[in-house]
Amino acid sequence: MPELPEVETVRRNLTAAMVGARFERVECRRADLRFPLPERFSDRLQGARIEALNRRGKYLVAPLSSGESLVMHLGMSGRFSTEGAQRLRPGGVYFDSAPIAAHDHVVFDMRAGNERVRIIYNDPRRFGFMDLIATESVSQSRHFEGMGPEPLSEDFTPAALISALHGKKAPIKSALLDQSVVAGLGNIYVCEALYRAGVSPRRSAGSISAARVRRLHPEIIGVLQAAIAAGGSTLKDYAAPDGAAGGFQERFAVYDRSGEPCGRCRRPIRRVVQSGRATFFCGTCQR
Ligand SMILES: [Zn+2]
Repeated sequence: MPELPEVETVRRNLTAAMVGARFERVECRRADLRFPLPERFSDRLQGARIEALNRRGKYLVAPLSSGESLVMHLGMSGRFSTEGAQRLRPGGVYFDSAPIAAHDHVVFDMRAGNERVRIIYNDPRRFGFMDLIATESVSQSRHFEGMGPEPLSEDFTPAALISALHGKKAPIKSALLDQSVVAGLGNIYVCEALYRAGVSPRRSAGSISAARVRRLHPEIIGVLQAAIAAGGSTLKDYAAPDGAAGGFQERFAVYDRSGEPCGRCRRPIRRVVQSGRATFFCGTCQR
């Protein structure tokens, strides 16, 4: 599932094609993705200009000239590609699974001045979705109400993290996946941040000393920044809109590396299942 660095990479890649452009034509090839598309989706987008392309957690949010915002979530396997003045899906791409046109569910024909660009949303598993919400009420909408701070914003301070984890009995791994604690983290970057900080994923969140949470905090930020700089991680179902693979998966210290030697102590990386999700960690270096 795309996490914050992958969604941020998509946002950066789509910005040039989308921001300032108007929807000339919107084609929905099915009535639903994970959820039904909003009523009169095409009509409401038609003619509207995209004012900005923002990210909140794992969501893309595009405020429009119409007063509504287009909210997009990639789910498990959603991806955008663009075709137009600059073809951003050239032949030699690195999709682990090539997009099949049958899964092209939504097509945006955009125009900015004389430039036309087609943006295609492809999603084989259809866990992604799109929504239209009045821009003034986006932050109170069901998608964002109660969502925790953005980890790369000034709101995410060591004190905020200490306070969010206080009294939580759940394992720290699960607590960091909770989007009300901090937005945008998923399985990969939680495993990596806990390894960097030397914190066991199985430790109860509320039992970790404030001093150790203060050491964990910059590791969360650091792993996200490193992953964004690498263009995200490419797993089975993710590729950036230009088709290029992200490179961070080559730098995973623990994620998907069970049995391989820990980079610090050389003992094998372990894999356990927590709340139905695989956790990778070093039983020696993480306490
Ligand atoms: Zn180790």
